[in-house]
Amino acid sequence: MARLVLKFGGTSVGTIDRIKNVARKVKQEVDAGHEVAVVVSAMSGVTNQLVDYVKQVGRLADEREYDAVVASGEQVTSGLLAIALQEIGIPARSWQGWQIPLITDDVHGKARIERIDSADLVARMATGEVAVVAGFQGVSKDGRIATLGRGGSDTSAVALAAAVQAERCDIYTDVDGVYTTDPRIVTKARKLGRITYEEMLEMASLGAKVLQTRSVEMAMKHRVRVQVLSTFEEAAGSALPGTLVVDEDEIVEQELVSGIAYSRDEAKVTLVGVEDRPGVAAAIFGPLTDAAINVDMIVQNVSEDGTTTDMTFTVTKADLDRTVQVLEGAKADLKYRRLTADSNVVKVSVIGVGMRSHAGVAQRMFKALADRGINIQVISTSEIKVSVLIAEEYTELALRALHTAYGLDQA
Ligand code: ADP
Ligand code: ASP
Ligand code: MG
Repeated sequence: MARLVLKFGGTSVGTIDRIKNVARKVKQEVDAGHEVAVVVSAMSGVTNQLVDYVKQVGRLADEREYDAVVASGEQVTSGLLAIALQEIGIPARSWQGWQIPLITDDVHGKARIERIDSADLVARMATGEVAVVAGFQGVSKDGRIATLGRGGSDTSAVALAAAVQAERCDIYTDVDGVYTTDPRIVTKARKLGRITYEEMLEMASLGAKVLQTRSVEMAMKHRVRVQVLSTFEEAAGSALPGTLVVDEDEIVEQELVSGIAYSRDEAKVTLVGVEDRPGVAAAIFGPLTDAAINVDMIVQNVSEDGTTTDMTFTVTKADLDRTVQVLEGAKADLKYRRLTADSNVVKVSVIGVGMRSHAGVAQRMFKALADRGINIQVISTSEIKVSVLIAEEYTELALRALHTAYGLDQA
């Protein structure tokens, strides 16, 4: 007998029939003798609808009230699943974030989990009752409902698994595992049997939304065994049908590159003709930091005459307007000639721990893109990834070309 946490995403609970299907899957685990907690997302589309309602009422809404509204989708599905379980003879009750309680900081809209007081929940699970937990939500220290950022139910599930010391956290979704790249874009993408925490963390933070980045951070920190698997396909006999996120030493044969991710969430800003003197980078990025704008990739070119420089960098699309505002405000001080902004860009990244011990990974990327006539605008690298910024229209072509270039295509 084991203690398990199962998480079902929006598509998996998207209709009443699908909620009944989830109840049957939960019953299988209960019948096998396991103690089960289930974390649910809102029905697919519901959170988007709720966010849109908030925007219609007020653009700069009080974030605590934003949270009160958008957390409600998960309240509905947790109640519905508890009823569906009771209907098939499984004792179950719903738990809202505040009832557990799952305590967060007060950064509403993207709160971080600080702790979970799971004693009551564990005691009820020990009696054979399934705990159906509303994902994505908690309660801040001042007693207000808080949400964990989009995709946050993954983090609820992993945090709960750590708190109740579950044997495993199964993330059920609409694909049957983590693939070498988004299988909805590259049909030759291959399912990975295992992936390391580190690679999964890079994949998620570089755009693969199959797991929320914070859920992977949390899993890595608390060494939670996470499996990603399909709600809709029955596993054909195998004990672990999905992708397991594991430590590096659990992977026997390490590929050079394990995955390719992309993010359409970046925008490019260039300051043309900035004075080339010590302190100029600090002068540009200081005001952005003060405005809580995160800068991601950066490249600086010295102009031909050697006296001015062009500075190009990326921010998230959501921060683009504010970035332009801040830099225009600082024009007198920065003395640049021109500012350009471009949101038709995509960041494509190749990721693999194998890169640490092999040269030439970046070169293979640059060549594959060059062969397709795709121009690279900005490059950034770290120990286990190489990212490039290219025009958005080449996203699919680039993903497919790189997938082939690193030998990842399915046979
Ligand atoms: P859920 O609603 O269950 O949380 P998400 O839509 O958040 O599901 O995440 C699943 C989706 O992630 C898939 O439908 C797939 O399109 C996308 N995805 C992006 N990159 C990958 C990848 N490398 N492997 C698997 N899925 C990926
Ligand atoms: N329902 C929330 C969202 O759509 C949380 C989640 O599904 O993980 O972002
Ligand atoms: Mg998700």
